[in-house]
This record gives sequence, C-alpha cells and structure tokens, in this order.
Amino acid sequence: MLLQQAMKQKLFNWFQQYHRPLPWRQSRNPYTIWISEVMLQQTTTSAVIPHFERFLKLFPDLETLASSPLNRVLEAWSGLGYYRRAKLLHAASQKLVSESQFPRAHQELLQLPGFGPYTARSVASLAFDEPVGVVDGNVIRLLCRLKNLSVLWWNQSGRSQLQHLSDQMVEGHPSGVMNQAMMELGATICTPSSPKCLLCPIAKWCESRQRGKPESLPLQRPRRQPQIWIWTPQIHLDQGRVALIENVTAPFLKGTWIFPGKMRSSDSPPKWWTYRHRITNYDIYVQSQKVQSQPPSRSKNLIWVPLKELKQQSPSSLLQKALHQVAKP
Ligand code: SF4
Repeated sequence: MLLQQAMKQKLFNWFQQYHRPLPWRQSRNPYTIWISEVMLQQTTTSAVIPHFERFLKLFPDLETLASSPLNRVLEAWSGLGYYRRAKLLHAASQKLVSESQFPRAHQELLQLPGFGPYTARSVASLAFDEPVGVVDGNVIRLLCRLKNLSVLWWNQSGRSQLQHLSDQMVEGHPSGVMNQAMMELGATICTPSSPKCLLCPIAKWCESRQRGKPESLPLQRPRRQPQIWIWTPQIHLDQGRVALIENVTAPFLKGTWIFPGKMRSSDSPPKWWTYRHRITNYDIYVQSQKVQSQPPSRSKNLIWVPLKELKQQSPSSLLQKALHQVAKP
C-alpha cells in the first residue's frame, strides 16, 4: 500500500499553516516534549496546558525533576490522574541524568521506564527527527479512514499494518513535523464523529470518504469487562495525623500510600457501598467506615501523615473521597 507524495506534501503544508500554537511546540527540547507526550496520553490537550505550564515551572529541567522527591512530583501531577505515569516519569528522569546525553533513537528510549512504542517514537521524531512514524488514537483514525482500512487496530497485526503506513507517511519529510501533522489533523478535522471533510487538506485522497462512510472507521474495539474491587478503608486519626499503608494488593494505585483496610477483588458488586470510583479498567466499590480514633495495631508498613499533607503524600481523589465520606456529619 503506497501513500502518494502529493498527499503527504498537502498535509505537511496544511500543518505548517494551521497548527495550534501549543506550549510544547515552542521548543525541540526532548525533556519538554517528553513531559507533554506523557501528559497527553490519557488527558485532553486543553486540560493538559495549565498542568504542563505549572509542572515546568516546578521542574524546569531533567536534573530538577530527578533530584526532587517523588511525593512532590506526584503532588504536581494532581488533577491529571493515572499517577503511575508520574512515578515512571520520575524513575526515568533519574536514569536519564546518569547518562551522558538524552538518547536520540527510539530503540534506546524504549529501555527507559514508562517509554512505550508511542512515547519513544514521538520523542525521537519530534526532538531529533528520527524517521519513525507514531501510532496513537488520532493517527489510527486518520489512517484507517484515509486507506479505508477495517483493521483490528488493537491487535498485533493491525497495529503493525498501521505502524508501517505511519512510517511511510513521515518518509521524505521532517518526521517530527509529519507526526504532529497527522495527530493534529486527527484531533481537529478528522474527529471521531462528524469529521470536517470539507476542510480536510487530503480529502481528495481519502478512500473512506469516497465510499461515503468515513465515520464507520476505525472499527470499535470490543469492550473489556471492568474488574470489580471492594475496599473497606479504615481511617485512623491521631493528633491530626492519619495512618497510611503501601498498597501492595490491588493492581490500581499500586505502590502508593492508601488507608489501611480490607481490599479484595470480586465477581459481582457488593450489596452495599458508599460510593463507586473508577480507575482505568477497575470499578472500586468503597464501603466507608466511621473515623477510628484508636491507632491500628503496629505494622511495619504503616506511616502516619499529617492530614494537611495527605494530598501531597497520596494525591489520588479516591483517598480524598474516602476521607470526605467519613467526615460527613
Ligand atoms: S476526508 Fe474526512 S474522513 Fe477523510 S481524512 Fe479527511 S477528515 Fe478524515
């Protein structure tokens, strides 16, 4: 399957003229590109902008991020969710400062914590113009429609087919610009519903449009059943401090500090719960209990944190909600 040179040129020119002036597009510094790419993975562009600007004020460079305590990084991540991303970002920054320079090739970047195929390719192309295409949600939608592909993009062979097309797309042009052009067109024109085909610079080459059904692509991924977890947090207060333990049981918020209490997976929801919280593919049913004034029995994994520092220690809204529930009159 070949991609026409004229089509690629049109896309390239369109991006040069119409791209949005997003803050992470002001520089080709691999550090800032990397931070923005990680933030954008599960969060919308408009939501990321203020977080990105604040994060860079707190951690303007790699060395500052690597030498900062993890808790400070997690706190700065508050509001973006998926805290695992922040933990991996911090771990990778510490590995990166020990290297003589920021790796330029995606194969090297893949060795770092948190760098998957998308992040590695995106940083390598946007910062260093390595000729590799990226495949994210916007690019999947754009390429499936452009070539009228009914591929199972969530499995290995569908992904390889799209990767091959994306690599072809960046051939012969600065790859960082072409990758951004594909993502920008997907985000602003070739949108999931009601694509603005009349404004599309590559409409002339679009095979799904010629067949009259661009919105039917890409195929919808079959839904995964969420995993059910039941949590009965015990909130122990003592002189303005609250007890926390490290979460080693549940797959969500793994390794972070949470309130002690029973945590178990289940095939079905419990008979009662105080509230339900969703983290990625996990449905967490929380059974809140009254605040306990007596400290729990000694545990070597238990720490006491001043209440006013709880958010800093453990920024997940799951904990804030649990505390709020038991503090209700
Ligand atoms: S013509 Fe329409 S469907 Fe095709 S790439 Fe452009 S916006 Fe998407």
